[in-house]
Amino acid sequence: MIYNFSAGPAVLPKAVLEIAQSNLLNYNNSGMSVMEMSHRSSSYLDIHQKTITLLKELMSVPDDYDILFLQGGASLQFHMVPLNIGTKNKIGFIDTGIWSQKAISEAKKLNKEVSILASSQDSNYQSIPSISLDYNLTALDYIHITTNNTIEGTAFNKIPQIDKVRLVADMSSNILSNHYEITDFDLIYAGAQKNIGPAGVTVVIIKKELLIEDNNLSPMLSFYQQSQSNSLYNTPPTFSIYMMSLVLEWLQDFGGIKAMTLYNEEKAALLYNYLDNSKLFFSPVNPDDRSIMNIPFLTNNEETDTAFINFATKKGLVNLKGYRTIGGMRASLYNAMPKEGIISLVDTLHAFEKQL
Ligand SMILES: *Cc1c(COP(=O)(O)O)cnc(C)c1O
Repeated sequence: MIYNFSAGPAVLPKAVLEIAQSNLLNYNNSGMSVMEMSHRSSSYLDIHQKTITLLKELMSVPDDYDILFLQGGASLQFHMVPLNIGTKNKIGFIDTGIWSQKAISEAKKLNKEVSILASSQDSNYQSIPSISLDYNLTALDYIHITTNNTIEGTAFNKIPQIDKVRLVADMSSNILSNHYEITDFDLIYAGAQKNIGPAGVTVVIIKKELLIEDNNLSPMLSFYQQSQSNSLYNTPPTFSIYMMSLVLEWLQDFGGIKAMTLYNEEKAALLYNYLDNSKLFFSPVNPDDRSIMNIPFLTNNEETDTAFINFATKKGLVNLKGYRTIGGMRASLYNAMPKEGIISLVDTLHAFEKQL
């Protein structure tokens, strides 16, 4: 039995992979695979529309928001969001780590004036900073946050309530993992390969009033054009979207986001409780700001970390090595990671600690 703790592309529900496998050669008696279908065919369009509807229902997306399926990953959104949104040329960022910094540097490349409203750099990004509200927020096009910091293991467990300015969120690593109010945001984006499906598709949830025609933009880079063509301006990543539909159906059968939140909190608590009581391993992250999706942990000794990673790998617990610039370990506990995987990880941590 292998448990895959990869940060992304990440574990998918086994039931989903089995359904995909059983339909791989002959989808719905069409005599062909979803991969072989025209993206203009009624079979594919049904999948496309069903996926939008499922996401809308699961996340309670109001009617004044549009859902887009784009390519280029969350990384292209670092460019596409500042390219499309706002006229003031000034963006506020909350800097919570490596992914926030990438978003910041891409906005600068578009000659946007960037204000860092808060940063946890001084604490090595082991916490979520609070925003100073005395800043002239109305001068900003929007504020950008990273709701879950995949590398550092922090999360916005409360979304800042800022009425005066739009809020944009990179939700790549915790979309669908816990309940956020969509109306707290004006735009949400997320690469699929952490919590929604396989790589290849990026979800954008955007307030419709932000869809403004601009003929100077390439249609591929225009939220307006992508929305006008229902994300079918060109060939979308059809198989990734199909896989997303299966993951969303699985999540619906699980009881939706409410049930999944409880499950994820329970899974994360198993690991954090162990770490907080261990004499060897610890979590470096401020307890109030801990992510329930990505949990970095370490010992005080790099060699011991490596020995643990090897010990765990032999027991079938794989991809626990921490991010290359951070070291230590990181366990990603996305929706599809079963509780049994965490129980096995905690047992393995325990066994390793005992044998030292
Ligand atoms: C993985 C990740 C990204 C990059 O996603 P790509 O789809 O590979 O471009 C951006 N932001 C966050 C928070 C991530 O976890």
